[in-house]
Amino acid sequence: MSDDAIDPSPQCSTVSVFPARPRLLVVDDEPLILEGLTRLLSTRDYDVVTAGGGCDALIAIGKQQFDAILLDLGMPDLNGAEVLRFVADRSADTPVIVVSGDSTIDAAIRALRGGAADFVRKPYEPEELLRRIDNTLARRRLEKENNLILLRLQQSEKWHRFLVNSSPDFIYTLDSEGRFTFVNDRVESLLGYRSEELLGQHYSLLVHEDDIARAEHVFNERRAGDRSARNAEIRLKCKPGVRRPRLMNGRCKSVELSATGMYDEDAGSFERRFIGSYGVAKDVTDRKQAEETVHYQAYHDLLTGLPNRALFRDHLGLMLAQAKRSQKPLAVLSLDLDHFKVINDSLGHAIGDELLLAVGARLRQCLREGDTLARLGGDEFAVLLPTLASRGDVEHICRKIIQVLSRPVYVKGHEIYVTVSIGACVAPEDGDMIDNLTRGAEIAMYQAKSRGRGRLQFWEPGMQAPYSERMQLEADLRRALARNEFVLFYQPQVDTVTGEVRGFEALLRWWHPQRGLLTPADFIPVAEESGVIVPIGDWVLRQASAQMADWHRAGLPQVRLSVNISARQLESPDFVDSVMRAMQIYALEGQQIELEITESLLMRDFEANAIKLGRLSASGVRLAIDDFGTGYSSFKYLSRFPIHTLKIDQSFVQGLDREENMSIVNAMIAMGRGMNLNVVAEGVETESQRARLQQMQCHEVQGYYYSAAVSSHDATALLGRNARGFGVAEQVAG
Ligand code: C2E
Ligand code: MG
Ligand code: MG
Repeated sequence: MSDDAIDPSPQCSTVSVFPARPRLLVVDDEPLILEGLTRLLSTRDYDVVTAGGGCDALIAIGKQQFDAILLDLGMPDLNGAEVLRFVADRSADTPVIVVSGDSTIDAAIRALRGGAADFVRKPYEPEELLRRIDNTLARRRLEKENNLILLRLQQSEKWHRFLVNSSPDFIYTLDSEGRFTFVNDRVESLLGYRSEELLGQHYSLLVHEDDIARAEHVFNERRAGDRSARNAEIRLKCKPGVRRPRLMNGRCKSVELSATGMYDEDAGSFERRFIGSYGVAKDVTDRKQAEETVHYQAYHDLLTGLPNRALFRDHLGLMLAQAKRSQKPLAVLSLDLDHFKVINDSLGHAIGDELLLAVGARLRQCLREGDTLARLGGDEFAVLLPTLASRGDVEHICRKIIQVLSRPVYVKGHEIYVTVSIGACVAPEDGDMIDNLTRGAEIAMYQAKSRGRGRLQFWEPGMQAPYSERMQLEADLRRALARNEFVLFYQPQVDTVTGEVRGFEALLRWWHPQRGLLTPADFIPVAEESGVIVPIGDWVLRQASAQMADWHRAGLPQVRLSVNISARQLESPDFVDSVMRAMQIYALEGQQIELEITESLLMRDFEANAIKLGRLSASGVRLAIDDFGTGYSSFKYLSRFPIHTLKIDQSFVQGLDREENMSIVNAMIAMGRGMNLNVVAEGVETESQRARLQQMQCHEVQGYYYSAAVSSHDATALLGRNARGFGVAEQVAG
C-alpha cells in the first residue's frame, strides 16, 4: 500500500483504552511483602498477579499485558534494574512503580532513569502507595487516550486525503489573496499541472481570459453556507505546451464551480476573519461539447457546414433590424442549381454531395465577410446581403456567382457543369418581413428557372409562385385516378426490314379537366415526388395488361408491350407482386410484357434491383434499358441484370447526321448485338435516320417516322393490318 492508500476500514470505532479492572503485576522476593501488597491491593478493584522474583516477572510480562507493575529492586535471581530494562524494551508503555527498601536518592534516580514511572520507599504508607498507583494509572490512561486520538486523527486525515485525491472533481483551497494553498491530484489529469506547481499561484493563472470577471466572483467567494456560489460555469485553461492525455483534447475545460468562504473559527463572532476559500470544480466539458454539437446541428447543414434555414432566418431578422436603423437596403437571394437531380440520379449521391460542397465553396468566394450563405436543403442555397448601396450591387454579385459557377467542377474524375438560377428580393422596397423576403426570392428564383435558367430574376409585384401551381397539380393528380382521367397511348416499334410491328410502348396521357391532354413531362415529376406515381404505375400495368388480353381475344398478332417503370415504383417493396398480379389477372405470359427502366434507376440500388428483376425475369418478364447512352452505359454492370432490349436514346438518333454520333450509335448497336440483345432505336423521325440504322444492323425502331403514340383504337387497327406491315405510304402522321 502506498503512503496515501489506506485501509478502507480504519480502526476508528471506539476501543476502550483500559479494561474495566486494571491488571497489576506485583514483583517481590519477600513472600511476606508480596502477601501484604496483595492484601492491600485487594481492597481495590484490581486484578493482581504476583511474581516472587525477577525471572518470574519476566515470564508473566511475556505472557500478558499489565496496566502497571509494582517492582522490588533487590532480588537474588534477577534484580529490579534488569526487569526495568526488559520492560522498557518489550512494553515501554507499561508504567513501573519501583517499591524499594533502598532509600537513597541515588537508587530513586537510577530507577527513574531506567524508565520507572514512580519510586516508593519501603516501608510504605498503604494510603500513599494506593494514591501513587491511582495517579500512575490515571496518567497512563490519559496518555493512551491521547495516543489513540492522535492515531484516529492521522487515519482520518489519510482517509480524507485519499477521498479528495481520488475525487473525479478538482478540489482546492485558496488563501485570502486568492493563491492556491491546496489542490488535489485531479488537477493533473484535468489541466496538465502537477499539484505542487499550482501551490502559491494565483487562481487567475487557470481561468480563460473571457471568464475572468465571472471567475472573480466565484473564486473570491466570501460567503459561506447556503448563500455561497453554486455551479457557476467557467472555462479553465490547460497547461500550455503539455502533451495532454488522450481524454484532454481541448485547450480548455469547462467546469462547474462551487465555492465557499473560510473564516478563522477562533476569532470572536464579531470580528470573523476571512482566511480564504475552498471549492470544487466539476468537469462538464463532455456535456458542454454535446450541447454545442446539438446546437450546431440544429443550426447548420451537416454536409456543407453552412448555416441552415433556421440560422439564416435568425440572421435575416437581426440584419433587418439593423437595416432599418441604417436605412440601407438589404437583399435575400434564393439559389437553386439547375438539373441537379439529373446529376444526383445518374452519378450517384456521393458525387452529388461532393458537387454541393464545391458549389458551397465557390459561392463563399463571391461573398463578403458579413454576408450569410446558407444551404436550405437539396440543391437550394440562400444568401443574405446586408447593407447594399443599390440593386446594382445585387446584380454585380450575382453576375460574379453565375460566372464562377460556369467553370466546370471536377469530382472523382467527372467533369460536371452546373448553372444556377437566382431569385432576389430587396428590403425594404419589396418587403420588410422575414417570410415575405424569403418567399419573394424563392418565387423569383422559380421565375428565373422558367425563363431559361442560369440567370438572376428580381421579385416583381404580381409574380405568381409556380409552387402553388405545383400543389394544385399534385391535388389534381391524386383525384385523377379515381376520376378515370388517365389513358394509355401506344407507340409502335417497327421492324426496319419487314415494316411489321414487333411491339408497342405504352405511354401515359392525362385528360386534365381544365388543361386538356397532358404528356408525362407535365406531371410525371410531380407524381414521382409526391409518391402518387406508385398507384398510377400500378394502373398503367393493369391497363396495359388488359389491352394485351383484348388483342389476344380478338385474335390479333402476338406482339410485346413495353411499360415504363419509375424509380418510386421500382423501390416500392410491392413492385414484383404488382407486376405478377397484373399478369395473372389477364392470364398473360411473361414474355408479352417488357419493363422499361433507365440505367441510372437500375444503378440506384444495385443489389436490391438485381434481386427484384431476377424474380421477374424468372417468370419470363422482359427487361429493356430505356434511354440507353444517357447514364452509366457500363456493360459490366448491365450484364448483372437479365436484360433483353437496349433502347438507344433519341438524342443519339436525332444527331445521326453528325460523325461522332454515328460512331457512338454504331458502337452501341454492336455491343447490344454482341450481348445478344434486341436493339431498338428511339425517336426515329426521318427516312435517312431509318436507313442509317438499318445499315448499322439495328432492326427495330420507334419514332414519328412510323407513328407517334396513338390511341388504343388506332393501335388496334394498326395491329389488324400488321401482316402487310408499314409501307412508306402507311406511316401515321407524328
Ligand atoms: P420514353 O420512355 O423515352 O418514351 C419515349 C418518348 O419519346 C415519348 O414521349 C414519345 O412520345 C417520344 N417520342 C416517340 N417518338 C419520337 C420521335 O420521333 N421524336 C421525338 N422527339 N419524340 C418521340 P412521352 O410520351 O411524352 O413520354 C415521355 C417520357 O415519360 C417517356 O420517355 C417515359 O420516360 C415517361 N413515361 C411515359 N409513360 C409513362 C408511364 O406510364 N409511366 C412512367 N413511369 N413513365 C412514363
Ligand atoms: Mg420508355
Ligand atoms: Mg426512352
